[in-house]
Amino acid sequence: MPPGMGGPMGRNSYMTDEEKAKVPKITRSLLNRVFSYLKPYRLQLILSVLLIALSSSLSTMPSILTGKIIDEGLIKKDLNSLIFYILMSFGLTLGASLIGVAQSFINTWIAQHTTYDMRNQMFRHLQMMSQRFFTSNNQGDIITRMTSDIDGVERVITNTFSSILSNSITLIVALVAMYQRNWVLATLGIIIVPLFAIPTRKAGETRWTLTQEAQAKNDEINGILNETLSVSGQLLVKLFGKEKYEYRRYRRANRKMIKLNIKQNMAGRWFFVVISTFTNIGPMLLYLAGGILMMKYDSELTVGDISVMVALLTRMYGPVNSLLNVQVDWMRSMALFSRIFEYLDMKPEIEEPENPVRIEDPKGNIVFDNVSFYYDPERMILKNISFELKPGKSIAIVGPSGSGKSTIINLIPRLYDVVGGTVTFDGVNVKDIELGQLRDQVGIVSQETYLFNGTIRDNLLYAKEDATDEEMIEACRKANIYDFISTQENGLDTVVGNRGLKLSGGEKQRISIARILLKNPTVFIFDEATSALDSISENRIQEAIDPIIKSKTSILIAHRLSTILAADEILVIKDGCIAERGSHKELVKAGGVYQELYETQFEKNAD
Ligand code: ATP
Repeated sequence: MPPGMGGPMGRNSYMTDEEKAKVPKITRSLLNRVFSYLKPYRLQLILSVLLIALSSSLSTMPSILTGKIIDEGLIKKDLNSLIFYILMSFGLTLGASLIGVAQSFINTWIAQHTTYDMRNQMFRHLQMMSQRFFTSNNQGDIITRMTSDIDGVERVITNTFSSILSNSITLIVALVAMYQRNWVLATLGIIIVPLFAIPTRKAGETRWTLTQEAQAKNDEINGILNETLSVSGQLLVKLFGKEKYEYRRYRRANRKMIKLNIKQNMAGRWFFVVISTFTNIGPMLLYLAGGILMMKYDSELTVGDISVMVALLTRMYGPVNSLLNVQVDWMRSMALFSRIFEYLDMKPEIEEPENPVRIEDPKGNIVFDNVSFYYDPERMILKNISFELKPGKSIAIVGPSGSGKSTIINLIPRLYDVVGGTVTFDGVNVKDIELGQLRDQVGIVSQETYLFNGTIRDNLLYAKEDATDEEMIEACRKANIYDFISTQENGLDTVVGNRGLKLSGGEKQRISIARILLKNPTVFIFDEATSALDSISENRIQEAIDPIIKSKTSILIAHRLSTILAADEILVIKDGCIAERGSHKELVKAGGVYQELYETQFEKNAD
């Protein structure tokens, strides 16, 4: 890798404007916080610093020994000295490399342990975040912070920190050694190195900008290919007769790509010309100055001394370059840290009450008293919702799509907190009940059933860790899924696939019903799926739910007449308010929203 390209973080040493915008203000507290992660490993850190110092000093020694090899061995024609210094040089190089191995082990160890702590802390924190956090943040962004941002931090600890240290030490040792020999040549060296490093950096930057442009063009071309060569894309192209248009679009992008590629390749050539010229000019200048000094002014300066100077000068190029890039690496690392801290600093919206109440012998009496709620203050979702669910009874919630039905049930296990009014469980405000107990008492079968990748057994045990096979089979029987399971070769150990994709929608629903039965909460909540299932599947689910509705305290968001009829009371929600309530007969007779829904929707869905 040519110097100047790619910093110690393994990424480029130049920042995009987007990256520059993300650089946080580097404050003392940010630094303290970053270093607090390293604190538990301070002993290892000290050891690592010592090893880095040792290894980089030792690795500079062979360059210094070149002087001895030339002066004592070659010029004096002393074979013993020659062999001695060569062997010594070899030994020192080997020693430095071995210490380097030990040091990189310790560094990796520190980095792994630090990021292990950070990952765990982040995961635990994210688990506590409220539902709103997950609905309002992009899932990709959450995963990126957990994975590549923390990986970045790992690279910072393994590479950036140690590279700053080892490069600085190499430079210091080289400079001290140069000044000890001859201050004039040493000062010349100090002037030459940046003369080489700065143009190299400039050339690298130009090349990098071109690479960025080429990358963007490439993405554009790939976009065109993806859009037009996919099955549905091609269909659209054909149906709209856009073949020529697409061809022209592709050709245009392709032509721009050629120009960029040529420019980029040529910049590469210039880049290497610049590097090799400057790399060679430096030593030549030193030979010239050293030669003049030796011949005209300083008879004590030896050929060996001049060779040492040249050897040390070339050794300084790499470290100087890396140190010039350090600022970018440093800023990038701080941006990573602050992205991670940004999440860690978010307070979970729903928290355990300060003095949590534990309900002895829960009954499942739920009362909504004048509840109002919004996700976003601009738009009220629920207004003045009041109802009571008595133990052993069931309520069906019906209403047009988007009227706020799912929102009502989300307030019971405190996935969100009410904005106004109260929700009580057995007479206690849900905000005061121990969160774990509250959620244990409420079992929700949601519209979108989610199964973890694993077996049916794994998914069932999620509800009750110590469930026996008999209990699981019993639950599956009640949920009407056991005949399916028993026909599977592996029975309960059948793999459900990623998110349960190997099962049909109806099967997934019934497994999630079995899961809730195993959990055996005080209150059952069903958010009936609106998505179409065939009527046999629907019936099987219906057969599983009906007995639960009849015998347990339950709330169901219903779209089908038969489910609605099984409930003791019906609440009709419209625009976030309870528009009507009563029994099926009463509501049909009233001739309002319910009757309309009945005619347009329920009758159609009736068995
Ligand atoms: P459906 O029968 O279609 O499931 P619903 O009656 O259950 O609808 P809700 O899911 O409660 O309706 O949604 C009520 C309103 O709140 C909708 O307008 C929806 O767009 C909005 N909403 C739902 N979830 C969120 C959220 N997480 N953030 C912001 N708005 C939301």
